[in-house]
Amino acid sequence: MSEEAPATPAGAGQTRRGDRASKPQPVAEPGLWLVATPIGNLEDISRRALAVLASVDSVACEDTRRTGRLLARHGISARLVSYHEHNAARVRPALIRTLAGGGSVALVSDAGTPLISDPGFKLVREAHDAGVRVTGCPGPSAPLFALILSGLPTDRFYFGGFLPSKAGARREALVSLRFLDATLVFFESPRRLAASLDDMATTLGSRPAAVARELTKLHEELRRGTLDQLAGHYASAGAPKGEVVVVVGGERSAAVESALSDADIDARLDSLLADGTVRDAAATLSAETGLPRRELYARALARAKEREECAVDP
Ligand code: SAM
Repeated sequence: MSEEAPATPAGAGQTRRGDRASKPQPVAEPGLWLVATPIGNLEDISRRALAVLASVDSVACEDTRRTGRLLARHGISARLVSYHEHNAARVRPALIRTLAGGGSVALVSDAGTPLISDPGFKLVREAHDAGVRVTGCPGPSAPLFALILSGLPTDRFYFGGFLPSKAGARREALVSLRFLDATLVFFESPRRLAASLDDMATTLGSRPAAVARELTKLHEELRRGTLDQLAGHYASAGAPKGEVVVVVGGERSAAVESALSDADIDARLDSLLADGTVRDAAATLSAETGLPRRELYARALARAKEREECAVDP
């Protein structure tokens, strides 16, 4: 978040005389407040969000220094409580006690909307279970912004978070989405972008797609093309700088049937066989890929036998 525009004057959310849009904001009522923060440009935070952050009993955040800088920029001092992946289980009971006792806590993440590939889901669940009011201030989120910029259909979309980092698991995850009639949205690390786009081109076919980079920042960029074009671009240009979201057209946008490799099919069958019968594995993969069920059954049967032999004969 280094390339932001100048800050809003301190005290945003408070009254300015004669300005009907700037009515005094009430102090935050008791409860858990889920507050979205900027994904790049520090101006992208609502007056209401600032008013809530200024008035809650404490602000739970992933990185106290980072959130402290954001709040300081807007002239807010707040009690910051560190709440991240590694301490959440330990810190959560104290937060729930504060909330159950009638206190107010805001939850923010490092950037964007909390809980979207960020901590918070269990805190929200436990707050509900404890009868605490859960509300918040919606705002920026990278996947939604990338989706609406992409030029791809927005009526139905699937958010896949981060794909697995290992190629086999990634391809398997993509195979399972092949027949989904919805635009697909993924987070991806710049380092894996080219390989990931290449796997998408192989498993999903030639589809329109977009890579949205550094959204709302100085070097914001949207690169559109087919999956193979984008894969080729990043393979030769190298890993881009900054943060990226990949948006991919749904199954109806595929121009050409993709060629699933035998290895992809076997990997998916193995994972389905780990949890189910040969018949179910063949039926699921047939539904996912459109490949004939009978062929998949024979293949799944062979793989299941192989697995059995391996288990018996180490
Ligand atoms: N909760 C956040 C949100 O609502 O946007 C997402 C957090 S997730 C841990 C971080 C990922 O979001 C990054 O790896 C990147 O894929 C994406 N992201 C966040 N900010 C971005 C930006 N300004 N431009 C492009 N992608 C961004």
